[in-house]
Amino acid sequence: MNHYILTNAIVTDGFTFLHNNCDIEIKDNRIVKIGEGLARNNIKCMDLGGRLVLPGLVNPHHHLYSALATGIGPLGPINNFTQKLEQLWWPLDRSLNTESIYCSAMNGLIQSVRYGVTTIVDHHASMNAVNGSLDIIKKAYNEVGVKGLLCYEISDRMGEDALQEQIDENIEFWNANKDNPNIKGLMGLHANFTLSEKSMKKIAEQKPGELPIHIHCAEDGADKDYCQKLGYAGAVDRLNEFGLLSRESLLVHCIHLSEKDYALLDKIKPNVISNPESNANNNVGMMDINKIKKYVLGTDGMTGNVLGTMRSHFLQRHGNIKDPMNILLKNIADMMRGYFPDITQLQEGSLADLAVTNYRPVTGINLDNLFYHLMFGVQGKEMYMTISEGQIIFSDNTIHSVDEKQLNKEISTAAKKLHETYYA
Ligand SMILES: [Zn+2]
Repeated sequence: MNHYILTNAIVTDGFTFLHNNCDIEIKDNRIVKIGEGLARNNIKCMDLGGRLVLPGLVNPHHHLYSALATGIGPLGPINNFTQKLEQLWWPLDRSLNTESIYCSAMNGLIQSVRYGVTTIVDHHASMNAVNGSLDIIKKAYNEVGVKGLLCYEISDRMGEDALQEQIDENIEFWNANKDNPNIKGLMGLHANFTLSEKSMKKIAEQKPGELPIHIHCAEDGADKDYCQKLGYAGAVDRLNEFGLLSRESLLVHCIHLSEKDYALLDKIKPNVISNPESNANNNVGMMDINKIKKYVLGTDGMTGNVLGTMRSHFLQRHGNIKDPMNILLKNIADMMRGYFPDITQLQEGSLADLAVTNYRPVTGINLDNLFYHLMFGVQGKEMYMTISEGQIIFSDNTIHSVDEKQLNKEISTAAKKLHETYYA
């Protein structure tokens, strides 16, 4: 039986309470008690030495397929965003096979866990290994012991037959995992500008009504121009015209929007995911946080580090962010609750998903200054311990759910082969 008490911690859910000298009792996969001086009753205790404990973190937009890309360069000159896709990301995803899809997912998930992330929303592409790719990624999630939403990013770039295979991969995975408590499916679309009118129509006709889309939306000016040349007001308007937009949609980036697009966001209220580090890296501009007030932050394949991404966002905006704790925890709970009811709920009775930071505050900490302790104390560094559904999957700088030493050998071999294929 999995039964233990974490002692001597600072524990917060980010909103309603922050307790010093606090214990957390965990039994099987749930938090049973939170409080000061819990009865030990011969239960195994682990002293956290005054460290700050947060709910397990959520990454609402990641690309695990890029987790073996570190060190590779583009195949040709890059002068704009589209060329970056053509010269780097598309040749990379075309080089993936079943082995490298798995190893890339494992590498990306392990990095996420090290930063206290226990739920990851992935947007996958592997154009020469589409069928079954989401099951491979699911296997990696199960082995590492994390939760998430998976989808395949549909686009026109491999032709019509391939498009149908990508649609099928999404729908079949979603259907097969409807009752899975840890992994569920979405309908992944790459972006408006890589989907023709004919393709959008095909997607709209085949997509079950209750299956939400997950799409890069108005990341670059090229996406807006493409939609406007077709006669739409913008990227959001085009999705809406095809009947693809709903409250549950995941719209990623939302930078280059028209007034009608903003009005549609206000009316329909889909989930908006900003990715500040990726946007800076791609030089595509920044989302207008005065116009889009409710949003969450993703890493877009840059890292697995959610708190580090918030720190970048905070610095890029010169500290002017409204309700940052909502962005980190509350908005994301609103977005994910339909899939995982316990998400970011650090309370008695909820699933024990916890991020134990490696930070022991020496200055006073309370709910009002918590965010600044996260920015200047925790600083987006690796965690001390990560707990997913009661299992300690990371502590002492070691991932416990997998044999990391053996796995790293497999990952290195797969990465070498992937890079050779990429440059061939
Ligand atoms: Zn992305």
